[in-house]
Amino acid sequence: MKDIVCSFCGARKEQVELMVSGLNAHICNKCIEQTWRILNEERKPKSSGKPVFKLVKPADMKTHLDEYIIGQDKAKKVLSVAVYNHYKRLMQKESNDEVNIEKSNIIMVGETGTGKTLLAKTMAKALQVPFCIADATVITEAGYVGEDVETILTRLLQAADYDQESAEMGIVYIDEIDKIARKSDNPSITRDVSGEGVQQALLKLLEGSIVNVPPQGGRKHPEQKMIAVNTENILFICGGAFDGIQKRIASRLNTRPVGFVGESEKDKEVDADNLLQYVSSQDLKAFGLIPELIGRLPVVAHLNPLDKTALRSILTEPKNSIVKQYVKLFEMEDIKITFSDDALDFIVDKAVEFGLGARGLRSICEAIMLEPMYDLPSNDSVKEMEINLEFVKKQIDNAVDSRKLRVA
Ligand code: ADP
Repeated sequence: MKDIVCSFCGARKEQVELMVSGLNAHICNKCIEQTWRILNEERKPKSSGKPVFKLVKPADMKTHLDEYIIGQDKAKKVLSVAVYNHYKRLMQKESNDEVNIEKSNIIMVGETGTGKTLLAKTMAKALQVPFCIADATVITEAGYVGEDVETILTRLLQAADYDQESAEMGIVYIDEIDKIARKSDNPSITRDVSGEGVQQALLKLLEGSIVNVPPQGGRKHPEQKMIAVNTENILFICGGAFDGIQKRIASRLNTRPVGFVGESEKDKEVDADNLLQYVSSQDLKAFGLIPELIGRLPVVAHLNPLDKTALRSILTEPKNSIVKQYVKLFEMEDIKITFSDDALDFIVDKAVEFGLGARGLRSICEAIMLEPMYDLPSNDSVKEMEINLEFVKKQIDNAVDSRKLRVA
């Protein structure tokens, strides 16, 4: 019989690990691997100056967000539209249109643990753009102890694997923006370095400019070669809890937290339990953000506090909900795990009791699941387990770190 040789490289069958035969040809494993690499190279988006992202229509984005985030309908809509317009704007760049669409950075106002970061992250993933999270509180003006504002972009570069072009179309989420508010509403008062200075520094990034970024982060030092990053097309999403802003909103609406708005809108009742929904740029200014910064954050979205029903849904409904994750973890051990309804209700009650909101659900579940996660992998006799109320109560009472849960 004729020798079987690879039709591509000529290697004989006994020289290779594997030979795949077709009708009139053969291919060896090495050639398959090489072809696979070429194919992947070819499939990679070409760096042709054309934007590399997946434009997602607002309604589709909202549907996508619904899979991962419970409630927050208004914020989802506002964000979907803003993000769509932002990336549409990047597509427009090519043409020499007279109408220039301006960049719309976003600011989200809502209690901690209501889904602000999750919203930003989920959108970035859907758009397939680099994403990073920065904390406004660690940023300081140059010369002070802390991080320079440029290090935010270092993180974005890292998220983009140092692909500068792709980083320049990424999304940056800046958390705790409320913590750098000016302490007094009166601009004439002595300059408040901690707040206003940082806001000024941020402004530089938000307004779209060329910023010299230290590729490895840290303080600038002479040996480090800087990368000049253009922030013009980077979408900045800021978020903060803005504790106490309700008072400002209430006073603007000319009402006490309980009541009606002024004469002109006489019959429109104000939902005093959720004043955040009326938040506007004016309130942000009253809270202590400088007008220049507010001007760069034209899209204002609010997130609602999560009630028990929402927390309960968060446990089970999102595509990668906490419960689904545990089920999956145990499935990998061939163990079927279920949670009883009253057990889940109890977890929600505890999260509310500890004042932890959605963030607390995870830590409470971890405390409950520690024992089974420790025992079951080595116990072949257990193939099924129900996490019921009795078990949950016992685990929470026993949890060594139940005190940790409380103060978290
Ligand atoms: P924030 O940025 O508003 O402080 P996060 O987005 O970081 O809050 O939320 C913390 C965690 O709580 C998330 O990772 C997620 O697991 C959960 N979570 C918060 N809000 C929601 C929500 N609306 N839907 C689903 N999960 C949520």
